[in-house]
Amino acid sequence: MAEQSESAPGAQRFIPPEADTLDALRAAASGCQGCELYRDASQTVFGRGDESARVVFVGEQPGDMEDQKGLPFVGPAGRLLRKAVDDSGLDPGHIYLTNAVKHFRFELRGKRRIHQTPDRVHITACRPWLVAEFARLHPEIVVVLGATAAKALLGPAFRVTRQRGELLPWPASAQHPEDFRQVPVDSAGKRADTPPAQLLATIHPSAVLRADDQDKAYEGLVADLTVAARALAG
Ligand code: SF4
Repeated sequence: MAEQSESAPGAQRFIPPEADTLDALRAAASGCQGCELYRDASQTVFGRGDESARVVFVGEQPGDMEDQKGLPFVGPAGRLLRKAVDDSGLDPGHIYLTNAVKHFRFELRGKRRIHQTPDRVHITACRPWLVAEFARLHPEIVVVLGATAAKALLGPAFRVTRQRGELLPWPASAQHPEDFRQVPVDSAGKRADTPPAQLLATIHPSAVLRADDQDKAYEGLVADLTVAARALAG
């Protein structure tokens, strides 16, 4: 069982400067010990999807099934998200899926592993991976799924419930926009300004699964994603 900790060394020192592709980052992340979550989880679950994705989704952390398979969004919440992507009109072939925290945090109850929300220390420790992923992606829309991802990208003051479904400027709305302002343009290390994009926050698909009125919660998720789909179509 993962213990609480007040501080963690962070992921930065596990990111090799020469890792200039998502595959290289993924390989490096498999050895990350930037916080204590690596100890009890099965493996690092790095982002997956289209490297030239128009839409990048950022969730909270891998769940039990993701931890076993090593792939993000393959459990019940992931299936629901894929259905919502289809129903909103977004192209499922052009998305990239990742999480703010890349190891499964859980509590053992008997033989069951019960999800535990990551603490701020885990979000902060893992943020360098998210920044490194964004440095290699060029999304037109970033979709933030739930409060943990919102904290990681937008800071603790952001309230998903208040600003969900609203298009915001990216990276200008990030907590530290400078982290996301430049992207490499070639293998020689040339960098350029990140093309302006938009960000949209919505609820995490697992919140739909936990809702008393799942149909209504699902409709809300699809309505938010439809805002993104329309923005891309426009
Ligand atoms: S949760 Fe993130 S920072 Fe912590 S060990 Fe895993 S990859 Fe590293």
